Amino acid sequence: MAFPQDRPRRMRRTEALRRLVRETTLAPDDLVWPLFAVPGERVRKPVKSMPGVFNLSVDELVAEAQAGYEAGVRSVILFGIPETKDAVGTSGFDEDGIIPRAIRALKKDVPGMVVMTDVCLCEYTDHGHCGVLKPPKAGGPGQDLGVDNDATLPLLAKQAIAHAKAGADIVAPSDMMDGRVAAIRKGLDETGYGDVPIMSYAAKFAGAFYGPFRDAADSAPREGPGVPKDRKGYQMDPANAREAMREVALDVAEGADLLMVKPAVPYLDVLRMMRDRFDLPLAAYHVSGEYAMIKAAGERGWIDEERVVLETLLCCRRAGADLILTYCAKDAAGLLTGVRR
Ligand SMILES: [Zn+2]
Repeated sequence: MAFPQDRPRRMRRTEALRRLVRETTLAPDDLVWPLFAVPGERVRKPVKSMPGVFNLSVDELVAEAQAGYEAGVRSVILFGIPETKDAVGTSGFDEDGIIPRAIRALKKDVPGMVVMTDVCLCEYTDHGHCGVLKPPKAGGPGQDLGVDNDATLPLLAKQAIAHAKAGADIVAPSDMMDGRVAAIRKGLDETGYGDVPIMSYAAKFAGAFYGPFRDAADSAPREGPGVPKDRKGYQMDPANAREAMREVALDVAEGADLLMVKPAVPYLDVLRMMRDRFDLPLAAYHVSGEYAMIKAAGERGWIDEERVVLETLLCCRRAGADLILTYCAKDAAGLLTGVRR
């Protein structure tokens, strides 16, 4: 029995032994819960493709965050659905807009919660893109008009400043415009918010896993003249992992404090490559499509939903994630702490 091949089996014999040599842990502190803020009062509108996820008015969002906090969640990330949309996303940098209002309410009523905010134009533009569009006459037949990268940067900085001013702990640009981390960093530093960290969606892949989110955030690109039909012009090609490392390196150089890969599970190899190359904290975004698949199979009894959720999040940690953004955060935290809400 003294052979090396028996060693793993010997250390798996009891739960206490397994715990003793466990390499990776999952704790509620690792989780960030995405919440969707909408105008109004007492609004709690279910998102059809994401069971258990709601569009919440600020009062309901505070109550939801409180319940999450009691279950062990210590961080949320906010997405906003504004009253009005226009071509440049003006409602996104309104200091009394939906997200600043939600931040102030959360900071008052759930002071222990870390409040992160999504910084992007797509929830606030009438065309649904993450940046402003180039003027129509710039293109011709066969020419992709696309998003105007550089014209978008000052608007993103304005949005981040509005969030910081309302009390956001971390701002998280998700637009994938080149140079936005530097532009936001400069904007925050110049307005007295040098202490607010930036979590960059550093490697965000253009793919099909975001479908349910666009229902929730009402942010799918609209059809129209001069409007690109997808985000492939600025988000990454799912085939490219080395390119992701170049994107990430740029964000590090521009001053990102935390780095993210999105989606999570189909891109764990990218996350691992990031872990091996960069020392900054890493986040994985377990996205709406990944959540919807677990929920759908769980509802049918095809998988043990609770176990699959915990295993999925643990595997993100094993691949190198320090933190995980997930719609499962409250449920997973409840499972881990034994507090169910
Ligand atoms: Zn966007």
